[in-house]
Amino acid sequence: MIGILLNDHAYEQDIRELLMAFFPGRDFVYEELPDLELCLVGRLNENRDQFRMQMIFRGEHSTLIWGDSPAEQWEMDHFDEPVFLDYDNRAEAKNKIKRRLYAILKELTGRSLPWGSLTGIRPAKIALSCLKDGMEEKEIFDFMKANYFASDEKIRLCVEIAMRERELLGRVKELEAKTSQHPANEHGYSLYVGIPFCPTTCLYCSFTSYPIEKWQGRLEEYRKALFLELDYVAETAGKYPSSVYVGGGTPTSLPAEELERLMKKLTDVFDCSGALEFTVEAGRPDSITREKLQILKKYGVTRISINPQTMNQPTLDRIGRRHTVEQVQEQFLLARDLGFDNINMDLIVGLPEEEEQDLFHTMEAVKALAPDSLTIHSLAVKRAARLNTRREDYKNCKIMNTQEMIQMTARYAREMGLEPYYLYRQKNMAGNFENVGYARPGKACIYNILMMEEQQTVIGCGAGTTTKRVIPEENRIERAETVKNVEQYMERIDEMIARKKRLFQGEQP
Ligand code: SF4
Repeated sequence: MIGILLNDHAYEQDIRELLMAFFPGRDFVYEELPDLELCLVGRLNENRDQFRMQMIFRGEHSTLIWGDSPAEQWEMDHFDEPVFLDYDNRAEAKNKIKRRLYAILKELTGRSLPWGSLTGIRPAKIALSCLKDGMEEKEIFDFMKANYFASDEKIRLCVEIAMRERELLGRVKELEAKTSQHPANEHGYSLYVGIPFCPTTCLYCSFTSYPIEKWQGRLEEYRKALFLELDYVAETAGKYPSSVYVGGGTPTSLPAEELERLMKKLTDVFDCSGALEFTVEAGRPDSITREKLQILKKYGVTRISINPQTMNQPTLDRIGRRHTVEQVQEQFLLARDLGFDNINMDLIVGLPEEEEQDLFHTMEAVKALAPDSLTIHSLAVKRAARLNTRREDYKNCKIMNTQEMIQMTARYAREMGLEPYYLYRQKNMAGNFENVGYARPGKACIYNILMMEEQQTVIGCGAGTTTKRVIPEENRIERAETVKNVEQYMERIDEMIARKKRLFQGEQP
């Protein structure tokens, strides 16, 4: 257990995140307890222009904190050199504090982190904004090195991705210029449609997802609510989204006739054929049929995902996917046969009990299928996932993710002719690595970039979706969410639409 004792809490989250990166899996508390193994004490001075930190650990210094002189009464000269800062300049103060803390933790543990002091989920956004400011590749590299202490490899990856993103975003801007006549859609937007149903729930899942069987009788109700939202969006933001992404859940877990109704509605209400891409996640092979793929083709879907996560059957069984490796291969080949020329596959590194040779086997099997894009995730165990809520049941499961494993996936992706094009990090990731999307030239998922780099408004419809309104001239993003609970979503659909309305009108959602 690690203690964090601060006399001001403005940067508590940033401090905790960096501590978590150095000490994954530990519990953090905010009080002086006798069984703390380690404690960070941070003090802001009265003038709010100096912040001092010290890590205290059990042993020779323990009496300083757990003896006669509690942390609250610490003399300031026990602390490290102060960080001089303008405490209320959030971006600057945060980075200064994290840089100092990183140096302290590096010295304490003798370790450095691949991402240095960066704990945010969008490191490529930093490189992208440097590019926009006109910085050259080398300048960006030096800037990221000096400011965040990230490894050369990670910075190079960020810069490469940012350069690719810039090129793809240029295409979005061109389309926006053609389609943004609507007042609410001045800068263009992308559409996300959430279908919160799956064949079964995966062990690590934290998305809005319900087993489809239980909802078979109420799909019509869901559809009606969703269609009201879609109508509202088309009316308010215009019928020309830059990209359309149908995800969830697993949209193809809908019965064929429901899937067809959804596709028809989308193509009736929006100009999907004018969008830069029209993606439908057919993520679970056990949800795919020839008929459903034909429906997607008929309505002009340009990109689908068939996600194995792993090509090892014992792991698939362990994580509750209830489909076979053969099904992945069969459905992939079927989709190819039917003319899908942009198929993505998602994989997860760090699944329970998987080791390097399991990942090697997965990469070989995926390479044989030659997908057009590959998204490599590092397992992130979120609070709502069964892997977390039933921690006791899985406490003996080995979760392994190493630099070598991540490098293996990158090497395979390159061998398959795929280039990195987007990247994000998550909290609680095994190994504190990153998720990277790789694609053949021309096959990158533009929606992923827009969503991750927050470069365009994304309007989410369906239960558990988020609408992010990007206001570039104010460098600001406003959000409105729909409820995750499907029952509540259907009952409160008017309220969900009203939230969007307030957002578009610039009011508090
Ligand atoms: S397929 Fe995806 S959304 Fe569905 S249960 Fe598994 S992880 Fe969750």
